[in-house]
Amino acid sequence: MDDEKATCKTKDCNKKAVHGPHCETHGFPRINQVSLVSLDTEDLRPRWLVDGWLEETDVALIIGDPYVGKSWLALHVGMSLARGKSWTDNITIGAAHRVLFIDEDNPDNTAKRRIQDYARKRLSQPSEWRYNFHYWVSNFITLQSLLDFTNVRGYFALIKKMRPRLVIIDTLYSFGNVDISNQKDVAALKTGLRRFQKLIYEETGEPIAFFILHHMKKKQESSKGELKATDIQRMYGSTFLHAMPDTIWILHKERNTFYLLQPKLRADPESGVTEPMMVQLGVK
Ligand SMILES: [Zn+2]
Repeated sequence: MDDEKATCKTKDCNKKAVHGPHCETHGFPRINQVSLVSLDTEDLRPRWLVDGWLEETDVALIIGDPYVGKSWLALHVGMSLARGKSWTDNITIGAAHRVLFIDEDNPDNTAKRRIQDYARKRLSQPSEWRYNFHYWVSNFITLQSLLDFTNVRGYFALIKKMRPRLVIIDTLYSFGNVDISNQKDVAALKTGLRRFQKLIYEETGEPIAFFILHHMKKKQESSKGELKATDIQRMYGSTFLHAMPDTIWILHKERNTFYLLQPKLRADPESGVTEPMMVQLGVK
């Protein structure tokens, strides 16, 4: 359906169709209602985008110390998913999917240099990522503009056409002006992202996952040592931000080895994850 022509089907009403084919006044909202009858046969096992690590509809936060390599990790995950290649020895990717990397953190040249460096080291041909991997840099996209679903010439409409299965946001902070220490702003962020996923799914029939990079405060010299699940408390923002995503991972680097610790467990016991997971990344 062409959004620009979607007006209310009621006679002589030219208002925008927002409830199916009708406007706010003439239509009813579509309610997402759970039916126990259909649940009886529904297959509700997790569907992985990245095996055991990222579900198809996850909103995942990746946090880490400044300069630990969050952007690089995100680039590597994105490129691996776009190519359908496993990105570490211990985390596998089954199929290739379209990926959109929205970079509002790095200046153009830094981003380009990083991609060039990555391609030279890891891709046999530059064309390997051309179709599945999209990289936007320095577009000054805010969360508000990303989550503006009414703008038919906006980012949402563009992403709906592109149909990526994973959107990487680098970084939450650079997407201003969400006050991450404010409960209202964090709640708006959460419902905004969920609505984004729902509307995309309704239009394309495909789920979309978010991978959001975020900062944490540097560890005090005095409390150095092994990374623990409690290090999640060094994450910037209110405790509501801890509750916002489906999963949180901390990226940690020690003597040139990357570690990922998952301090926030999935609510779903079917995922098989029952205690904080620490993965040593033997990066391929
Ligand atoms: Zn109407």
